[in-house]
Amino acid sequence: MRAAFRCIVVALAALALCAPVAAATSSSTAALQVALAARGLYTGTIDGIRGPGTDGAVRAFQARGGLLVDGIAGPQTRGRLGWRGRPSLGRRVLRAGRRGWDVAALQFLLGTHGFPSGAMDGGLGPRTEAALRRFQAWAGLAVDGVAGPATLVRLRKPPPTSPLVFALPVPAPAGDRFGPRGDRFHTGVDFPVRGGTPVAAAGRGCVSFAGPSVGGYGKLVVIQHRLGVTSWYGHLSAITVARGRCVLAGDRIGRAGATGRATGPHVHLELRLRGAAVPPRF
Ligand SMILES: [Zn+2]
Repeated sequence: MRAAFRCIVVALAALALCAPVAAATSSSTAALQVALAARGLYTGTIDGIRGPGTDGAVRAFQARGGLLVDGIAGPQTRGRLGWRGRPSLGRRVLRAGRRGWDVAALQFLLGTHGFPSGAMDGGLGPRTEAALRRFQAWAGLAVDGVAGPATLVRLRKPPPTSPLVFALPVPAPAGDRFGPRGDRFHTGVDFPVRGGTPVAAAGRGCVSFAGPSVGGYGKLVVIQHRLGVTSWYGHLSAITVARGRCVLAGDRIGRAGATGRATGPHVHLELRLRGAAVPPRF
């Protein structure tokens, strides 16, 4: 009797393990994409969206491994993915040095919450740990760089959004948008313009930084707005405001360029809410 009861418990546990696969969340799809990208089968953006590219990569992987080709990343398929195929997020505490499906899912969730950790690769290295600490501080959690239940609960809540609406910094349509790009997250919106195009403040506030920056932004201006929001203007060729200067939306702050990590002239506009990168609202 007791043995039978244990069997039922084991069967229920197995069902529970399968459930997240059936109802794939975006972070588990992202983890799947990371695993398939490592095999050279998925070349799209790690966006957590189950589209034709992901589906085709799963089928190609299954066909290559002699598995049933159904496009579903079930236990067998995930098992064949090696360490990148397991375990599911929430099955263990994640700390520096861990690697797996759950770490890739964690990296995706950190990115969507405004704390990208460099390349999403399924390994919990120094950059992911640093992003985890910044997220924990932002969320008011214990800052230990370890993703336990409290951190995961917080990461499963919807990402933060900007409480403020902004004006465009240049009269040009947006190019690359906020969100996943390749195996990383793009933390702002890019406006491709000619070098030297005047750049305007996107909202009312006071300049909290103006000058050359670290981290690829090149010549950078940061404006502090209300409600803990800052706006960042990267890759400028010239800066025409100084720290401490208060501006209105539309006031000139500099000129567009390609300083820092940029392939061509554009304005990278980034919004942060108490440090978390959030999608700009115009
Ligand atoms: Zn950018």
